[in-house]
Amino acid sequence: MNLILLGPPGAGKGTQAQRLQDEKGLKQLSTGDMLRAEVKSGSALGKRAAGIMEAGQLVPDDLIIALIEARIAQPDCKNGFILDGFPRTTAQAEALDRMLGLRGLKLDRVIEMTVDEKALTDRITGRFSCASCGAGYHDRFKQPKKPGICDVCGSTEFIRRKDDNVETVTARLRAYHDQTAPLLPYYKARGVLQSVDGMASMDAVYKQILEALPGK
Ligand code: AMP
Repeated sequence: MNLILLGPPGAGKGTQAQRLQDEKGLKQLSTGDMLRAEVKSGSALGKRAAGIMEAGQLVPDDLIIALIEARIAQPDCKNGFILDGFPRTTAQAEALDRMLGLRGLKLDRVIEMTVDEKALTDRITGRFSCASCGAGYHDRFKQPKKPGICDVCGSTEFIRRKDDNVETVTARLRAYHDQTAPLLPYYKARGVLQSVDGMASMDAVYKQILEALPGK
């Protein structure tokens, strides 16, 4: 099964994609994570992307499309994948259609996560993660059980994303509305779009996603 999670930054796409990966054996493909890995490694792509990401703008389509095309060809995607943060433009959605067509694959569902925009800035600016295993936390909504110690791996190092600040979030939301939201009618017209309430609890959102999957 191949899915897209669609929604503005802070909607919870990464959290839900991670759980779907763990429990359903689908591979989470986060273009944001891939780009952050490129930035960290200091690659040519990372160097090109860093400033764009810090400004809250979108990295050029051709770079992202090449990244995803190489990734879905890997063996760990053969049971299906969850696209988290891709596609973000009509050109990316069209390129995805072409890539899937060439491989004889199809898109089973596009899950839109709807959110109250006023809550997004709070959600995003409070988040941090374990530097070692990547487990996600939040200043107000999800502190580690023992202060300063990761629940999952026991590490005491935590990191915050550079682009999770108020100014960049405003630009990221603008990019979502201008460039990504037009994908909603695009997928609705194909009959694959389902919406879930991204403001519900993490468990309730996950349950809604499972109910929105084909065969339910
Ligand atoms: P995310 O982790 O999905 O919030 O992505 C972080 C940043 O990476 C975005 O603000 C963009 O600068 C860049 N990015 C991630 N995915 C894409 C994409 N599909 N197209 C263009 N830029 C992207």
